[in-house]
Amino acid sequence: MRLGVPKETSAEENRVALVPDTVARLVKAGFEIVIETGAGVRAYFADEAYQRAGAAILPDAAAVFAQAEIVLKVQRPSIEEAGMLPSGCVVVALMQPAASTELMALLAERGVTALAMELLPRISAAQAMDVLSSQATVAGYKAALLGAVTIGRLMPMMITAAGTLIPSSVLVLGAGVAGLQAIATARRLGAQVAAFDIRAASRQEVESLGAHFIETEQAPANVESAGGYARELAQDEQRRVLQTIGRHIGEADLVITTAQVPGRTAPRLITAEMVAAMKPGSVIVDLAADTGGNCELTQLDRTVQSNGVSILGPRNLAATVPTHASQMYSRNMQSLVQYMVRDQKLMLELDDRIVGPMAITHQGLVRYPADASRTAA
Ligand code: NAD
Repeated sequence: MRLGVPKETSAEENRVALVPDTVARLVKAGFEIVIETGAGVRAYFADEAYQRAGAAILPDAAAVFAQAEIVLKVQRPSIEEAGMLPSGCVVVALMQPAASTELMALLAERGVTALAMELLPRISAAQAMDVLSSQATVAGYKAALLGAVTIGRLMPMMITAAGTLIPSSVLVLGAGVAGLQAIATARRLGAQVAAFDIRAASRQEVESLGAHFIETEQAPANVESAGGYARELAQDEQRRVLQTIGRHIGEADLVITTAQVPGRTAPRLITAEMVAAMKPGSVIVDLAADTGGNCELTQLDRTVQSNGVSILGPRNLAATVPTHASQMYSRNMQSLVQYMVRDQKLMLELDDRIVGPMAITHQGLVRYPADASRTAA
């Protein structure tokens, strides 16, 4: 079984789908691996490191696609790349299925099976393959650092000959994977941290990191779905959430927001009025910027200034920490590939509880969304 990794073509994407350490493990397990020259350079992995790990380096993506039975990528293939993927091959990536209608039609027409990492079920058996979690871990960490260097204050308490500095206050909205990592990072930097989430289960996780959990009056009930995700709130629930956040936001020097509801635009947790009540010099880092933002004033990829408050809307923060983000992504890929390929045979069954939901194109059909009737390409 031959695996192929091309160079990522998107200008902002610094990650690579396999790193040399994982290549060595896969080669030891019997896989052949082909890598496009320079694929790892932006994550600081040289061609020579891949060669030492047992991979063959090929001159371009076309050569990789021609040889690989499974193509591993971080970002979805471009239309041009999809046009080069041979019939019968499998491509694994963050496929953005809801925004990839044209791409999925082309892949189905070419007989390519596409597996969308976003659709991996969040179950214990699939935890080692979960790129959303691994990349959110990196993004949450980086969001806290970005906030720390943007506020006009130090994070920890300091007792110095020049006086005593009180620690900065950090408020984290949404305490899922990214939020918990932001809390842990802000705590390591010495800040006082409070956090809010609508899932009752998050309270214990927040408190175990030494942060204060903010309560809502009449907390919304049954918010957690089987997959562990939150549901969209009704209007009156949303109003109470905003009131709760409004009572705390004025104290924060740094607010990190990470709240998401799968398949929906991000919940609005900070209004323009709430920003106006914040301290000058305070900062919001909105990790939900690419799904509409948790703050009303957020603009994707921009820093907005409003009454002395800076609102950052960074996209794809995991790609700004490419070495470790790639290392984690790569281990996720290894787990997935070793799950799918047994005795050198690809086991890709649509009724498989892990791989089945991820197959957005298979055997000439577009299979996304899962509840829509299958469309022939
Ligand atoms: P996510 O990125 O979809 O959302 C981030 C957080 O925002 C969640 O904690 C969510 O509850 C919160 N949120 C949504 N609407 C909100 C609102 N109106 N106000 C405040 N907060 C709001 O979620 P995620 O971080 O990817 O994961 C969420 C949960 O899924 C995890 O905490 C975990 O329990 C579960 N999970 C399970 C597995 C597994 O079993 N393999 C893997 C990853 C995550």
